[in-house]
Amino acid sequence: METGMLTPRNIPQKSSARIRCPHCGNDVDFFEIADGVVLTTRYLQNTDGSFTQEGDESQVLGEIKFFCGECNQDLSQYHNRFLEMLF
Ligand SMILES: [Zn+2]
Repeated sequence: METGMLTPRNIPQKSSARIRCPHCGNDVDFFEIADGVVLTTRYLQNTDGSFTQEGDESQVLGEIKFFCGECNQDLSQYHNRFLEMLF
């Protein structure tokens, strides 16, 4: 029976795990753009008629692209690696 223990994945060497923009060499500044995002925000109405924000739910329906923050090069090929390294 599975005990639910987490098996550590093989972690790649640090040098190869670092994402570097092949276009300008930037390895610090990146951004992500999501297509077709549905933002849902919940509010609770208070007794005096004012509202308090209760929660935030967002759902990405479309594609998520990943870009270099320096030269805006599309680095979507690195997006999966970015997600693995996102803490
Ligand atoms: Zn770049």
